[in-house]
Amino acid sequence: MTERIAVVGAGQMGNGIAHVFATAGFPVTMIDVSKDALAKGRATIEKNLARQVQKGTIDAATRDAALGRITLSETIDAVRDASLVVEAATENVDVKYRIFADLDRLAPANAILASNTSSISITEIAARTKRPAQVIGMHFMNPVPVMQLVEIIRGLATSDETTRTVVDLATRLGKTPVEVNDFPGFVSNRVLMPMINEAVYCLMEGVGTAEAIDTVMKLGMNHPMGPLALADLIGLDTCASILEVLHAGLGDPKYRPCPLLKKYVAAGWLGRKTGRGFYTYA
Ligand code: NAD
Repeated sequence: MTERIAVVGAGQMGNGIAHVFATAGFPVTMIDVSKDALAKGRATIEKNLARQVQKGTIDAATRDAALGRITLSETIDAVRDASLVVEAATENVDVKYRIFADLDRLAPANAILASNTSSISITEIAARTKRPAQVIGMHFMNPVPVMQLVEIIRGLATSDETTRTVVDLATRLGKTPVEVNDFPGFVSNRVLMPMINEAVYCLMEGVGTAEAIDTVMKLGMNHPMGPLALADLIGLDTCASILEVLHAGLGDPKYRPCPLLKKYVAAGWLGRKTGRGFYTYA
């Protein structure tokens, strides 16, 4: 079977995932319920490919070939010929459960169903399907074309064969896969989100301004960007959702999302994607 990839969700992660698969030579269908998101996703891929050409990391022919491999769809039926589906829709349990029930019904019986979720249990997502051995976490980092890591999350029922296939695919994208087990937040967000949350508490309690907090962490800890700027990049709604999953899944009050984070989300200040978060963006 030709390796055909379907990416569900054309937001900041989905279009990045489609970008790297298409650049590596795979035909990709990018699916989203929103026509606007599809158009914006494709425009972002074009812009990012153009930047890579400008930097000399790819040539113009590679860019054109990659763009030619991407098709768009507003319906999930487009997964019918996929050998791998990577779901990168909104970080919400009900949304993911519904999507995986549809994927299980519509994708070929031997297709692997992967989720790019930041925190939702792969084991529970897999239990929504009749093929839990073929369900796995394929957690790309933001921005996908730039970041080296893919965190590969094995659910309780994920088979060795599924894991091997996905590890091999991540390697063929030029990424470095790291295998971990399914537990709330996996490794990346189990460690990262408490730091971001604590930075928001520092801001709320007036320990420092956003600039002061980020500068301490950048210059003092040698982080490439401060935790509040990183939260704006990830999306404050996504950060709040991940903290809720950590809080519910591990039961420890240390994971409760900071009230200031929740307030920003309620205001629609979601970070870069809405032009305003802890910082404002043109
Ligand atoms: P986003 O808000 O930019 O995009 C989500 C997209 O999903 C939207 O375009 C929305 O229209 C679409 N969508 C919603 N329901 C859908 C459905 N039923 N079918 C098809 N499309 C649907 O979000 P994002 O930042 O791209 O995050 C996507 C996933 O990736 C989440 O699970 C998130 O936790 C994870 N993730 C995010 C980051 C990050 O830094 N933002 C990093 C790693 C993983």
